[in-house]
Amino acid sequence: MVKKKGNLFHITSDRTEYQAKNVLIATGPFQKPRIPAFANDLSKDVLQLHSSDYRNPSQLIEGKVLVVGGGNSGAQITEEIAREREVYLSTSCRFSFMPLSMGNRIIFWCFDKLGILKASSTSYIGRKIQKRGDPIFGFELKKAIQEGKVIIKGRTLNCNGNIVTFNDDSLHNVHNVIWATGFTSDYSWLDVTGILGENGKPIHNRGVTNVPGLYFLGLPWQYRRGSALLQGVGNDANYLMEQLKK
Ligand SMILES: Cc1cc2nc3c(=O)[nH]c(=O)nc-3n(C[C@H](O)[C@H](O)[C@H](O)COP(=O)(O)OP(=O)(O)OC[C@H]3O[C@@H](n4cnc5c(N)ncnc54)[C@H](O)[C@@H]3O)c2cc1C
Repeated sequence: MVKKKGNLFHITSDRTEYQAKNVLIATGPFQKPRIPAFANDLSKDVLQLHSSDYRNPSQLIEGKVLVVGGGNSGAQITEEIAREREVYLSTSCRFSFMPLSMGNRIIFWCFDKLGILKASSTSYIGRKIQKRGDPIFGFELKKAIQEGKVIIKGRTLNCNGNIVTFNDDSLHNVHNVIWATGFTSDYSWLDVTGILGENGKPIHNRGVTNVPGLYFLGLPWQYRRGSALLQGVGNDANYLMEQLKK
């Protein structure tokens, strides 16, 4: 738990207690698996996994497989399972694909050199990327779709027993569902008023909050595209160090 008393933060961990003038929260953007509430309406016979618990296809039971969520996690999991069996992939957006590497360089190296990782959230490029979302990196899923190993479905609307309904009015009888539906924030341990917005996300400017001494690092689009990436977090860290020194 983190509380503020006077000018000091009181931090209680499962082992000990600390007091600090400054607290920098770097708990990452992937805190709590997000699974839609209607997952509870699936029959107990259906194997359900969040993408964070998926390791390989041997975890799955006999029968049809549905992956919900067409981001990079959903795409990679789908493609891996499709090597062994037919997979349904439910997505609410159109796919765009990009190579994972160019020559012998990973695509993020190229993004870095082109300045894309440095695009701020309010810049023209930054707004465009946020609107479009990330492409799928690599063409393996595209190939599996073309070969008929992956069947694309629309957005998942609800579940009942073994039946899942999609927004194109189609239904499917499934036996395995993998929720590649992302993560939500969990700041239930942060007992400091005025820090979180109505959406439960931190209110900050480049990681600096309105509460003196409280900072965030590693949030997606904290300042730039690269803020939550290994190649980009250093810029934000340097900025916060300057603020801390002041
Ligand atoms: C599938 C996937 C693929 C990715 N691929 C890439 C990639 O190719 N390149 C790239 O740059 N980035 C990639 N990322 C993003 C990458 O995960 C982040 O860049 C990096 O992990 C962020 O590091 P972090 O330390 O900020 O957060 P994390 O690595 O999430 O670390 C946060 C830590 O805080 C701990 N924590 C949380 N709450 C508390 C608490 N209350 N008390 C104490 N500790 C707590 C957590 O246990 C964890 O150890 C990927 C992410 C995912 C999910």
